[in-house]
Amino acid sequence: MAHEHPKDLHPATIAAHAAGATDTQTAGVVPAVHMSTTFARDADYALLNPENVYLRSHNENVRVAERLLSRLEGAQETLLFPSGMAAVAAVFRTVPNGAHVVVQSQIYWGTTAWIRDFCARRGIALHEVEASDPDALAAVCADHRPALVWIETPSNPWLRITDIAAAAAMAHGVGAKLVVDSTAATPVLSQPLALGADIVMHSATKGINGHSDVLAGSLATRAPDAPIWQMIRDDRNMAGAVLGPMEAWLLTRGMRTLPLRMREMSRNAMTLAEQLSDHPKVETVLYPGLASHPGHAIAARQMAGGFGGLMSFVVKGGGPAALRAVGRLQLFGRATSLGGVESLVEHRHTIEPHTGIPEGLLRLSVGIEDAGDLIDDLEQALGQ
Ligand SMILES: *Cc1c(COP(=O)(O)O)cnc(C)c1O
Repeated sequence: MAHEHPKDLHPATIAAHAAGATDTQTAGVVPAVHMSTTFARDADYALLNPENVYLRSHNENVRVAERLLSRLEGAQETLLFPSGMAAVAAVFRTVPNGAHVVVQSQIYWGTTAWIRDFCARRGIALHEVEASDPDALAAVCADHRPALVWIETPSNPWLRITDIAAAAAMAHGVGAKLVVDSTAATPVLSQPLALGADIVMHSATKGINGHSDVLAGSLATRAPDAPIWQMIRDDRNMAGAVLGPMEAWLLTRGMRTLPLRMREMSRNAMTLAEQLSDHPKVETVLYPGLASHPGHAIAARQMAGGFGGLMSFVVKGGGPAALRAVGRLQLFGRATSLGGVESLVEHRHTIEPHTGIPEGLLRLSVGIEDAGDLIDDLEQALGQ
């Protein structure tokens, strides 16, 4: 059960205490996992606990995780989904057939691929735009008066930074809702709702859970009475894109260290970005923490406490040189995904060869290992 904390507690405290979640029945300092799918009535057929009828709609472990995320995000309400993509789909299912939507180009490939297919099937006009360019975003909003504007910042794998407050003003100016995929930042580093976003989306599979062992997604808002939010909430309830109790419990456990992890990952990533910037075998480093990054000033304004663990760099010598370096790495796991405590490396061009990703680009998800060990590994892999 949640205790009400005073409003001024800091994220590290809220997270470490899981927003006050404990187990009142056993006095356990950690909440229990409730696996029951259905809840009993008494002899007069009244619910024994009026809050619980059936697990699809009433999942206490999901409520605990949602309450914690809402506190960290500065949201009025959070809804968890069984994956980040289920959260993306929940938003787009609210768009009427025949409407227009604006979506940032060169974002997470799974999002782009699914939205293209969905919009084609539903007769929705999709306009993809480089949203980190404010003039381009303003023009496409004015031309098409979309129902929805979707941005992702920092973007994956290009690390482009979109000005959230400016995007919100543009979207609202034409009557659109702004949705921000803030996966790479997590609620610890960035709070898009405070900057005017209508909904913030996360793949909680990534930094929010942080241990590469839970698949989950989330949506959060400050306007739970808005029709779009009620549609999303009703659709989750009835169509059943819900998280199980065990996943929700693991997610709550993972989030207890979220501020700690994000701080350490950001610090490590910054150290690596600086080292790689000076490396003779490296062409460019894409990391918003670097003063040379085109989005640095905006990132510094709308991110606090660090720039996250996601970064990319381009190896001199193209695909063969990049793949050679990847093959030699010993500490970085060769795997997709990001935001876990362990560092991972990915050659994005192999995964999405037709989307303009440079062949020499390597994406790193920087974990919480010792920064010196990670640098030594990169040095030996790149060679002199
Ligand atoms: C991983 C990811 C998603 C999709 O989330 P899943 O949990 O894998 O379904 C969406 N957006 C971004 C930025 C991601 O990194």
